[in-house]
Amino acid sequence: MLRLTTALTALAIAAPAFAEEVNIYSYRQPELLAPLTDAFTAETGIKVNVAYLKKGLVERLKAEGRRSPADLILTVDISRLATAVDAGVTQPIESETLKANVPSLYHDPAGQWWGLTTRARIVYASKDRVDPADITTYEDLADPKWKGRICTRSGTHVYTLALVAAMIEHHGEEKAKTWLEGVKANLARKPQGNDRAQVKAIWAGECDISFGNTYYMGKMLSDEEQKDWANSVNVLFPTFENGGTHVNISGVSMTKSAPNKEAALKMMEFLTSPKAQEIYASANYEYPIAPGTEAIDLVKSWGDFEVDNVNLMDLAAHRGQALKLVEEVDFDG
Ligand code: FE
Repeated sequence: MLRLTTALTALAIAAPAFAEEVNIYSYRQPELLAPLTDAFTAETGIKVNVAYLKKGLVERLKAEGRRSPADLILTVDISRLATAVDAGVTQPIESETLKANVPSLYHDPAGQWWGLTTRARIVYASKDRVDPADITTYEDLADPKWKGRICTRSGTHVYTLALVAAMIEHHGEEKAKTWLEGVKANLARKPQGNDRAQVKAIWAGECDISFGNTYYMGKMLSDEEQKDWANSVNVLFPTFENGGTHVNISGVSMTKSAPNKEAALKMMEFLTSPKAQEIYASANYEYPIAPGTEAIDLVKSWGDFEVDNVNLMDLAAHRGQALKLVEEVDFDG
């Protein structure tokens, strides 16, 4: 936050070097955004100030109210975007450019949030101990045949909740609960750590299967220490019995109070452009979504998959139920 405050104070005192600017609150890491903000400034002359936040983004916007300097929020996961919309801190945006760049699956029909990239929540499975042909559906992971072989992060994490929300959408709450109980019964250890920690556990022989987002494969492969973890697993794309592979998005919303609305819209249109999406997606091993864009070769090498047919709005709508189920079955306990 310091960076933004400093930048704004400096601008207020000195004569602004830039006629226009745009202020972003971001949950995403600096190394992902910097190439994009630099390219945007080079192209438009609009200065970009980014406040990188670890948590409390919506609370901050609510507390700042109409005086908030923020124009845009950048984050991952439909539940975080929906939470911001529900809190009333975003505004609907109408733009033909945005509509052309973002397939309708990946933006709010009302224009409150716009997707930029996708990632799939897939299975990492031990190369030595799991036959890839044995894992085809998410439902199957609740089968007792996997007892003691699954590792996962917390059930209350947004990534897990979105998967549970999709299960609810596909099969209803009761079956989703039974599934969750089945997966819990198959865990090799209590849920703990992040997605990469599960792959490390597979590498170390503590379990054979984990849930994880696709891009972590790329991140692990580019890390000296984690390379071995990545090379010990296969990336498998399970589907729902009556659907495809679970996918979530990174996205952008304009704040309700955006003081630099025009510049902010230009930034949104830039971020959704095929060129920017490919830069953004390759920096984090994600899938760009604009028509005509492609993931980088490494990401493509993990395989093709059919995206699940559950609507992101429905995923967001079930997030409360999903948390309730995770607590009812004491998934982390
Ligand atoms: Fe992540």
